[in-house]
Amino acid sequence: MTGTAIAALALPFDNSFASLPPAFYTRLMPTPLPAPYLVAASPSAARLIGLDPAVLAEEDSLAAIVGNRVPERSKPLAAVYSGHQFGVWAGQLGDGRAILLGEVATAEGPMELQLKGAGLTPYSRMGDGRAVLRSSIREFLCSEAMHALGIPTSRALSVAGSDQGVVRETIETSAVVVRMAPTFVRFGSFEHWYYKRQEGELKILADYVIDRFYPELREKQNPYAAFLEEVTRRTARLVAQWQAVGFMHGVLNTDNMSILGQTLDYGPFGFMEAFNSRHICNHSDQNGRYSYANQPQIGHWNCYALAQALLPLVGEVDAAQEALGVYQEVFEDKMSELLHAKLGLREQRDSDRELLDTMFGLLQANHADFTLFFRRLSGLHSTDAGGDEPLRDLFIDRPAFDAWAGSYRARLQAEGSVDAERKLAMDRCNPKYVLRNYLAQVAIEKAQNKDFSEVARLLQVLERPFDEQPGNESYAALPPDWASELEVSCSS
Ligand code: AMP
Ligand code: MG
Repeated sequence: MTGTAIAALALPFDNSFASLPPAFYTRLMPTPLPAPYLVAASPSAARLIGLDPAVLAEEDSLAAIVGNRVPERSKPLAAVYSGHQFGVWAGQLGDGRAILLGEVATAEGPMELQLKGAGLTPYSRMGDGRAVLRSSIREFLCSEAMHALGIPTSRALSVAGSDQGVVRETIETSAVVVRMAPTFVRFGSFEHWYYKRQEGELKILADYVIDRFYPELREKQNPYAAFLEEVTRRTARLVAQWQAVGFMHGVLNTDNMSILGQTLDYGPFGFMEAFNSRHICNHSDQNGRYSYANQPQIGHWNCYALAQALLPLVGEVDAAQEALGVYQEVFEDKMSELLHAKLGLREQRDSDRELLDTMFGLLQANHADFTLFFRRLSGLHSTDAGGDEPLRDLFIDRPAFDAWAGSYRARLQAEGSVDAERKLAMDRCNPKYVLRNYLAQVAIEKAQNKDFSEVARLLQVLERPFDEQPGNESYAALPPDWASELEVSCSS
């Protein structure tokens, strides 16, 4: 161990979830993973929990982050939950391959640490309790990338692999991600007790979550209705943030919806590239239930599912309806705020809807790259078309682009926009670097050949998504032709 650094094994763990009655979980140990190796660690996530990142490569820590040795005072457990999958009630699910170690105190409050891929649990159903290296690297990178984008998310501390084979479409190798969040309680955790008609447990869970994460709601006349409303608000804002960066979750089942309004359970997610509002990032989602365009209404649908589950506590259907009713307005307000910021507009005007609709129509018709479009938009001059070229190049229909750029310029002039100031502000909210599928794929393929350098490099790039990064320009480039063949599915 170096200096005064704390080994991961020695972290002062607590476990408040384990203080819930035994029906909420099963206490168990992770299944050891043979000959583990560290693939990558997030220095900023490590610092958040008081770990020196260098420590994670040491043997003791490595044993801890794959579950081969359990830290003292942690009370490992797998939690039970249920959920709606693709709109259909799926019954009991639960942590089929995730094991909660407990929580550690941080500057941001207690953070739970969970090992994802740490072996069978009573909730594994047909699964093997493992996660493959491919999906683990994707979850690790995207968690940290989303955090750097300022979007609420679970974090990822580390990903460690083993040559132990696991069968998916082909034989792959296994990995364990240590992920962190204040809680991993989901909408489906509430649905579980509602559908089992166990209102006592439902209340215990709601009281636990409210007391711990929404204590201010205790003062409200109906704390459960207030809770539903606040989760609805957070969900609406979260989905707006996803839409604004072109993030598609891919599997917005109610068991993947965080009760804190954070992005949770990274699987077949994707970032919008050639814009198509109907884009489906998950190859297993044949009907496009979770397409980009559908995400906002799915967020609302999921809140309805939560409302249904909370109804015995909320009491009145009207109160639940009222709580759910905030979704649309919160979503639209947040979306409007974010889009105005993306366009560098300080003021909101009635005519902006048309400007935005035309813009999305143009992006759609030309399949322009979503990230590059907004990033290059900051380079436009408000008075002349002299700086249009890099942006204009993204469009096949140049006259249509020119017409839109003209109205955008007029709109900028109408509020006395100052180009240099606007560029600065826009570059702080339109990322240059996002986790494009092909970037993840390159890092994954190298990692599968035991070269982990690209995962680390990609993490470094994605930790500063808004900065110009000389030397890393290639990470902001359009995807290569082979990327169109990439398919991500629920298989992970
Ligand atoms: P997901 O679609 O990844 O959110 O997973 C849905 C449910 O399946 C959750 O209860 C997971 O814990 C479980 N699950 C997914 N993959 C596995 C696996 N390989 N082994 C055990 N359970 C799994
Ligand atoms: Mg899940």
